[in-house]
Amino acid sequence: MALANEFRILAGVRPCGIIVLVSELFSCESISQVYAILHEYFRSNDSVAHSLEFICYDDGCHLRKYSCNPCRKDETPTAKLLAASEIVIDKMHFSGHTDKWCLATCNPNVFSGLNNVDTEICEQTFAWLSRYCHVTRHMTRNTFVFFLLYLCDLHNRREETKLRNSHYL
Ligand SMILES: [Zn+2]
Repeated sequence: MALANEFRILAGVRPCGIIVLVSELFSCESISQVYAILHEYFRSNDSVAHSLEFICYDDGCHLRKYSCNPCRKDETPTAKLLAASEIVIDKMHFSGHTDKWCLATCNPNVFSGLNNVDTEICEQTFAWLSRYCHVTRHMTRNTFVFFLLYLCDLHNRREETKLRNSHYL
């Protein structure tokens, strides 16, 4: 998503609403960049990597093909993990994917582990973040990054409080 005029970010959000990953995107949101960001995130967060069940992404079909490409799928332990992961399209964007391979491979509705899972949590989080577009428009890069991290921290504290009050934590 784009926030301040020239800044684009990729965010990773758990279904419970906690933002676990925020990274700047350079130029456009390419699959290679998304893959590199995810690779670095899982490489440096071992416990998260080993509890990974699904990756839901609006362009999950291309991300899955990229991850499973024979030229990279065995390059590192994290590449192997990503290649073996269930990468699916989130439920909101799935209707836009009509290719037979997408329907057969990246359908979030066929996995019982995704029943009652809010796969659109990233969209909801982006909708919330987008409210700050005007505020961030004239920020320098450093100010923007600091502001973004501060916002995400506040967001996570609020979500944690909600989870604690609901006895999930
Ligand atoms: Zn597709």
